[in-house]
Amino acid sequence: MDNSFVNLCPRCGQPRIVAKKWSEKIKIGNRPSVIYHTETICPNPKCQKKVDEELSAAREKRAQIEKEREKRGEEQKAHRVNIKI
Ligand SMILES: [Zn+2]
Repeated sequence: MDNSFVNLCPRCGQPRIVAKKWSEKIKIGNRPSVIYHTETICPNPKCQKKVDEELSAAREKRAQIEKEREKRGEEQKAHRVNIKI
């Protein structure tokens, strides 16, 4: 099943509307090709704003978790070094 045409808003479940359509000319090897892009938004601007906020919040949270993981990894390394000594 192809779900790419059914784009529902993750918040209110309404079918999203196309906000922007554009195409991009690319080259695959020597052959020119065109990629079609579609940007969809929620028909409710207030809801779309929330979706955008949630998206950026989720992105920030992920970055935070990544950072924490890195930090923990470094601490573990340091701990291992201490044990060796
Ligand atoms: Zn919505």
